[in-house]
Amino acid sequence: MNIILLGAPGAGKGTQATKISDKYGMPHISTGDIFRENIKNQTEIGMLAKSYIDKGQLVPDEVTCKIVEERLSRDDCREKGYLLDGFPRTLAQAEALDKITKIDAVVNIDIDFSLLMNRLCGRRVCRDCGESYHVSMLQGATTCARCGGELYTRKDDNPETVQSRLAVYTEQTAPLIDYYTKKGLILNFTGTDDPPAVLFGEITAELDKLAR
Ligand code: ADP
Ligand code: ZN
Repeated sequence: MNIILLGAPGAGKGTQATKISDKYGMPHISTGDIFRENIKNQTEIGMLAKSYIDKGQLVPDEVTCKIVEERLSRDDCREKGYLLDGFPRTLAQAEALDKITKIDAVVNIDIDFSLLMNRLCGRRVCRDCGESYHVSMLQGATTCARCGGELYTRKDDNPETVQSRLAVYTEQTAPLIDYYTKKGLILNFTGTDDPPAVLFGEITAELDKLAR
């Protein structure tokens, strides 16, 4: 199965993506994670990406599309399909993707923006496994309950940068809902403050039908 996860920053794409790829066995490809890995390793792509990410802007399409194209050409994607988390984010990216592959479904997580600021600014992420937590649930813990890794606050999870990420989402990414609806590929879900397992149950009920 080739799946795209669509949704505003903080909608829960990353959390759902981990669970979906665990269940169906396809690789989870997060462009945000790929950029952060490159930033950590101080690669050329990392340096470039950082200048955009820190401002809450999108990394240019050309760079992003090239990375994704390379990743999708690897054996694991050809064998098991893939789950794209955070790509495409612009119409140009969606069109580029259409040229190189065929998508089976687009999981769209629709969420009330009023929930997102608190979620993102209170988010703590594990440096080692990428699991995310909300600070209000941690009771002072500074390590990951899943793997023991160190928890940190992403540099772009601050009120100012979150504002611009949400504006970018509305302007550049939200039009993709229409794009994929017209192609008959959209599966719509509503994000809430319920535990992630609830949404996961709803999503897998639909994906199970495709997997059969
Ligand atoms: P979130 O969904 O919480 O905003 P991501 O980890 O998906 O977080 O992305 C973090 C940042 O990485 C984005 O704000 C953007 O700057 C950059 N980025 C990720 N994916 C893309 C993409 N497909 N196109 C352009 N920039 C991207
Ligand atoms: Zn961890």
